[in-house]
Amino acid sequence: MFTIRLASGKEARIHAGHPWIYRSEIARVDDEGEPGAIAHVRDNRGRFLGQATVNLKSQIAGRLLTRQEEPVDAVFFDRRIREAVSRCGRSVRGEDACRLIFGEADHLPGLIVDRYHDLLVIQILTAGMERVREVILEVVKRVVQPRAIYERNDALPRKLEGLELHKGYAWGEGETGIWIREGDLSFFVEVAEGQKTGFFLDQRENRQVVKRLAKGREVLDCFCYSGGFALSAAGGGAASVIGVDLSAEAIAWAERSAQRNGLASRCTFTAANAFDALRAFDREDRRFGLVILDPPAFTKGKETLAGALRGYKEINLRAMKLLAPGGILVTCSCSYHVDASMFLDMLRAAAADARRVFHLVELRTQASDHPVLLAAKETQYLKCAILETLN
Ligand code: SAH
Repeated sequence: MFTIRLASGKEARIHAGHPWIYRSEIARVDDEGEPGAIAHVRDNRGRFLGQATVNLKSQIAGRLLTRQEEPVDAVFFDRRIREAVSRCGRSVRGEDACRLIFGEADHLPGLIVDRYHDLLVIQILTAGMERVREVILEVVKRVVQPRAIYERNDALPRKLEGLELHKGYAWGEGETGIWIREGDLSFFVEVAEGQKTGFFLDQRENRQVVKRLAKGREVLDCFCYSGGFALSAAGGGAASVIGVDLSAEAIAWAERSAQRNGLASRCTFTAANAFDALRAFDREDRRFGLVILDPPAFTKGKETLAGALRGYKEINLRAMKLLAPGGILVTCSCSYHVDASMFLDMLRAAAADARRVFHLVELRTQASDHPVLLAAKETQYLKCAILETLN
């Protein structure tokens, strides 16, 4: 039987509730299976710890599926998927779009499933999940009963697992550009061409906060993508909204959604570099009542952390300077390597340089359909600070 035995002492993380086993922690491999095959995991003294999908090509060689000696079959995945879908149903009510399955945090490592109305978008990120792809598709179809399932297996982490990149319908067919409702707004989502699986579902709850804060304010949404925050602000009664994103395609989607919601007269979207736009507004002495910063992850590793923090500080410093008295900054980071305390320290340094005094009104995180596994810090990646100036 395919079994991995951990080096002495390396079982602690597993005992603490974390699902990962690094390749360097494996002392012995017996009857090695294909990449992604399920192995029994034992500590150095031979005690059973659980069953994991194991891909020795990847740094994260093992991902625990269960701590029981149970069959890992269609019945197992049916139970896990139903649990995840029901967890999502308890946190998201009455919304068209949500994350049904969030990989490790839903005890299904390597699997992402997002729902956009009646269309599901699935992402398989590990060799372990790839091996059970057919089973997963069957169970998901039965449990969720979607119109179609689109597969976004063009995500780069697949390369680390030795998997090829591809996308397309896994089942069913139809338009890949669809309309979803979020609260009382409609958003255009392109599941084949968009970022991630098409929409930033992780910011849903933060968009509601922006909606409440925006009334009567002049708003600047930097890194606006398809207009999630910008349109939420406009919907919440902002006086005017400017959205800036580098992607002309995303800007076109934002404009389309602005039209559909009857908000176009108060919204201006521009395809531009947000760093340049912030600098230009500063030169013009423009002031805003609400600035939103939601940049892409500036670092995906520890090596580039210092540079990333300089980037975050630069945009935050510039945004702080643009705030009118009483202005609000909603500032985010989705870099897992920048943790909440580093993020706040960066904001303190930016505020000091900007000579502005702020209340930290709230420090928020990802929407609750992206659950956080207490033992796995990696599952909590989004920071969203809400700062309000006095001066
Ligand atoms: N706030 C959005 C998600 C933003 S994702 C939402 O809630 O939907 C980050 C965005 O930053 C992407 O759309 C990407 O196109 C954009 N981007 C990356 N680098 C940029 C830059 N230098 N200037 C402006 N936009 C940039």
